[in-house]
Amino acid sequence: MGLYMCNKTCVSIKMLKGKTALITGASRGIGKAIAIEFARNNADVIINYYNDKDEAEAAVDDVKKYGVKSMAVQADVSNFDEVKRMAAIIQKNFEKINILVNNAGIVKDRTLKKMTMQEWHAVINTNLNGVFHVTKAILPLMRDGGRIISISSIIGLYGNFGQCNYAAAKAGIIGFTKSLAKELGKKKITVNAVAPGFVKTSITKNMPLFRKKVINYMTPLKEEAEPEDIANVVAFLASDKARYVTGAVINVDGGLAF
Ligand code: NAD
Repeated sequence: MGLYMCNKTCVSIKMLKGKTALITGASRGIGKAIAIEFARNNADVIINYYNDKDEAEAAVDDVKKYGVKSMAVQADVSNFDEVKRMAAIIQKNFEKINILVNNAGIVKDRTLKKMTMQEWHAVINTNLNGVFHVTKAILPLMRDGGRIISISSIIGLYGNFGQCNYAAAKAGIIGFTKSLAKELGKKKITVNAVAPGFVKTSITKNMPLFRKKVINYMTPLKEEAEPEDIANVVAFLASDKARYVTGAVINVDGGLAF
């Protein structure tokens, strides 16, 4: 409940006042938590979604409770034509973007020996090519001083059994982030990545209990992250307070990866 519930008084703070943000895959999970945290900080928020229209519209309703503008825009981030259409809709309705969060992502876990071409390409197309497509299409709308934040993973830094496709895509995001930070610094646009550890969302819901217990045992903070733990760090990176942070990868993993 917490941040998603806003019955009578939605307390807002002003860290992102006057900013417009696009978050991909924001109908649920980490993306939705980021949308709510941005709205709480007074940003207008565009919710990109893939095929879950009802969830996306519910997220828009939650965001609007903070008195900011919001709309849901459908686009499969792995399809550049759909992404360009989304950018045109955004330009018409909001004119500019100050903050882009590349959050959309999927898993199709399998050992390399058993992994099909479809499982490899689906993950690379959504998790890595999606970041390229959306950033490329949105950059012309981005104002100087903008923020690009992509959700990587500690798996992209350290790898994981059964996740060659996911690890390759998430590691690719880190190389992309560091290179683009060098290209856009002169416009004062910062480009950063956040690498979550294990977060309570639908991606991890079906993980076997014994595996969850092992991960929690190995995590110094002894618990999984809530989506809001990731959203808080993303909101900081999106704010003026992080003006001198670029090309960084920030782990939000309870200490799991150090
Ligand atoms: P989730 O499944 O709850 O959310 C993923 C979102 O991405 C959904 O809204 C989904 O509709 C959207 N999406 C999927 N394919 C899409 C496409 N082609 N186009 C547009 N949107 C698409 O999972 P989550 O845990 O909230 O994941 C959010 C991000 O965080 C992902 O990039 C994921 O890899 C990353 N991440 C998650 C964890 C974790 O433990 N949950 C850890 C590290 C990184």
